[in-house]
Amino acid sequence: MNQQTMRTWTEVRLDHLEHNYRVLRACAPQSKFLGVVKANAYGHGAVAVATKLQALGADYLAVACLNEAIELRGAGITMPILILGATPAEFASQVVEHGLTQAVFTPELAHALSQAAVAQGKKAKIHVKLDTGMSRLGILAHDPAQAAREVEELCALPGLEAEGIFTHFANADGDEGYTMEQFTRFLDTLNLLEHTYGRTFQLRHCAASAAVLNFPCTHLDMVRPGIALYGYLPDPSCQGLDAEELWPVMTLKTRVAAVRELPADTPVSYGCTQKMGAEGGRVAVLPVGYADGLHRVLSGQGTVLVNGKPRPILGRVCMDMCMVALQPEDQVQVGDEVELFGLHQRVEDMAQLAGTIPYELLCAVSPRVPRLYQGA
Ligand SMILES: *Cc1c(COP(=O)(O)O)cnc(C)c1O
Repeated sequence: MNQQTMRTWTEVRLDHLEHNYRVLRACAPQSKFLGVVKANAYGHGAVAVATKLQALGADYLAVACLNEAIELRGAGITMPILILGATPAEFASQVVEHGLTQAVFTPELAHALSQAAVAQGKKAKIHVKLDTGMSRLGILAHDPAQAAREVEELCALPGLEAEGIFTHFANADGDEGYTMEQFTRFLDTLNLLEHTYGRTFQLRHCAASAAVLNFPCTHLDMVRPGIALYGYLPDPSCQGLDAEELWPVMTLKTRVAAVRELPADTPVSYGCTQKMGAEGGRVAVLPVGYADGLHRVLSGQGTVLVNGKPRPILGRVCMDMCMVALQPEDQVQVGDEVELFGLHQRVEDMAQLAGTIPYELLCAVSPRVPRLYQGA
């Protein structure tokens, strides 16, 4: 398949990834750098992104689950990889076999990893996860003394190398007070671990993109950005960088499949929710739909760039197609390129119309959409 025969594709600019990587490293010059490549690197292609980050000298990668980590190992990624999510205890031996680092927050998983490590004559690397207020995964750290006790019990098991400890902020792009409350719980727990048990960690980390930008005091030993690497601020309110200082990595494109001349008042697409005006006119049919990642909620709302000009989506977005209204002056041919979002139409705008965040639109680009890598 070449670009001429593709219906819809993404162009992924690895040179832009490199730019964002350098910008973010400069924001946290004293800290190691973990690149978050979960969810197929936010839709950009985990293997290509991880390969680039490895070549650039990033210190760590993070994925959501064991399968994502194994995919990277299978593709020749040798650098440290942290599994952020829960791995069922029965897969502990695979974590050790593949030389992965596991986030740990329950005695069950700690014991399973410990046993697997001893059985294989290896160390199982773990990063203890503390829940300081996100209320997702982690050892609850509302009472730091209790948390320190629980952490120490896990870390003392044979075969474990307790390399890191981390937490995740719930509202680092909105609420300084709450973020500092979480950060204080984290530091209090670390202090108690050190002073009560002599337990220290080489890699203490808590800053995802928002905290990398907003709260330099939270950078500690390693930062952990995702969305900013891909060219977007986690929230427009973020300080530290202007939106233009990060460069979008992915552009989602399609090409015109048909140009149709339709009579006055003709309804367009399922449900006949919109119709042509009293003059009639032309629509371009695009071979992109919600099965490619163009959210159906953008029906009758979004615009796309047809030959560089914004043109509105007309009627419902279908599974594999959608229609856009053309202007009388538009010289549009079958095969012309259309940008859905990316370099010239920011995904934030489309996300806002869809009632969501850039993260979701990036992740939604489906596996049937080929990724073309540029600027490697
Ligand atoms: C997804 C995730 C990140 C990255 O978050 P961004 O907002 O994309 O920077 C960091 N840490 C954890 C635990 C995550 O789940």
